Amino acid sequence: MPFLNFGVLFLTYKNVDIVIVGAGLSGLASAILLTEAGKKVLILEARNSAGGRIRSVFDKTGKTYLADLGPTWVWPAFQPVIADWISKLGLQVFPQFDAGNTILDYGPDTEPEARFLPGQQGSMRVVGGSQALVDAMVARLPEGTLLTNTSVNTIDASDKAINIHTGNPDDEIIQAQKIIIATPPRIALKTINWKFELPRELSNGLDMMPTWMAPHAKVSVVYEKAFWRDQGLSGRIASRAGPIVEGHDHCSADGSIAALWGFIGWPHEMRTEMGTEALKLEVLQQLKRCFGKDSPDPLSITIEDWSQDTLVTSPNDLSGPMNHPSVGPKNLRMGYADNRIWFAGAETAEQSPGLIEGAFDSANRVAAQVLSG
Ligand SMILES: Cc1cc2nc3c(=O)[nH]c(=O)nc-3n(C[C@H](O)[C@H](O)[C@H](O)COP(=O)(O)OP(=O)(O)OC[C@H]3O[C@@H](n4cnc5c(N)ncnc54)[C@H](O)[C@@H]3O)c2cc1C
Repeated sequence: MPFLNFGVLFLTYKNVDIVIVGAGLSGLASAILLTEAGKKVLILEARNSAGGRIRSVFDKTGKTYLADLGPTWVWPAFQPVIADWISKLGLQVFPQFDAGNTILDYGPDTEPEARFLPGQQGSMRVVGGSQALVDAMVARLPEGTLLTNTSVNTIDASDKAINIHTGNPDDEIIQAQKIIIATPPRIALKTINWKFELPRELSNGLDMMPTWMAPHAKVSVVYEKAFWRDQGLSGRIASRAGPIVEGHDHCSADGSIAALWGFIGWPHEMRTEMGTEALKLEVLQQLKRCFGKDSPDPLSITIEDWSQDTLVTSPNDLSGPMNHPSVGPKNLRMGYADNRIWFAGAETAEQSPGLIEGAFDSANRVAAQVLSG
């Protein structure tokens, strides 16, 4: 009988109705909706904290959010699902700062140019960063709902209950009536050992959905002061030379945090070969090239290379795509093993697949499906 050896944990796992694999936005939102409907839910998260592709730079205390390393923008005017969730979670949004000229960077041998570029209208940021979404959702979960450092290795649907084997040293088995897989589809297919024959349409559907942003890397640069704003610059950088190919102002809503972020455009093989510290030096040189050699030194430069994150990126994600994924097949949104196995996650969504909107849309959909049986 499972759990008997686990003392306190025994109490936590008792009578779980639904296990959710993954504490990204979709897993957390699904858990909130299901617990609000009276279900006992347990989220199993492989990492040591919730958030998934939401990752942040914190100050030295590790508690105060400074900048995003994952998503930054939402578009509530065009995305009704995230608009609802932002209101439900009591959060606020503010527009992406874009006043002033963009720096056009042509590389080390040519002077950069400052020119007005349109194009940021409608991009909004959550006050407190994307991290605020995660913090607000975790705060709403009943105690004991989230179990971190727990990787799901095997899902066995051959019994009446779903038996879930974790990667924890004791290989405890957790039982639930139903399970929601809220990981990127390819991660679910390639990293979980399924003791249930996945129908071919499902495994094809999981395999064909690329994980949005998986091959990319992002850098966040924190400064003492947003000096570029004083120079009539928006903080936006457009470069064909790199390493930052697209950069933006990333100051907090109240201006107390001065920061920039950028997508690193150099390919993942090159990034891996040169290593993070060398890449940081290249970023610093580029920023000096863009803003002037006498521009202030940053307080910190943090790079997150998502291509090296094996809970996000599978090998066939490394080659792209560069465009937002199109809506995946309906097999991703169906129940399996007598409606006991379901899939959530941004990439399964019908609305804005791959995006934050998609993550919340998939949670709304899967919670309704699971509750309707
Ligand atoms: C650099 C970057 C920039 C982005 N920019 C934007 C943006 O500006 N706007 C926007 O709308 N979207 C953006 N996105 C996309 C957005 O981050 C995602 O749509 C969203 O965060 C996905 O949430 P999710 O819950 O579907 O999946 P994830 O966040 O991937 O969560 C899945 C969770 O499952 C866990 N997991 C995986 N396997 C297991 C296992 N076997 N056992 C237990 N746990 C497991 C993972 O650790 C993870 O926590 C960006 C993403 C990145 C990386």
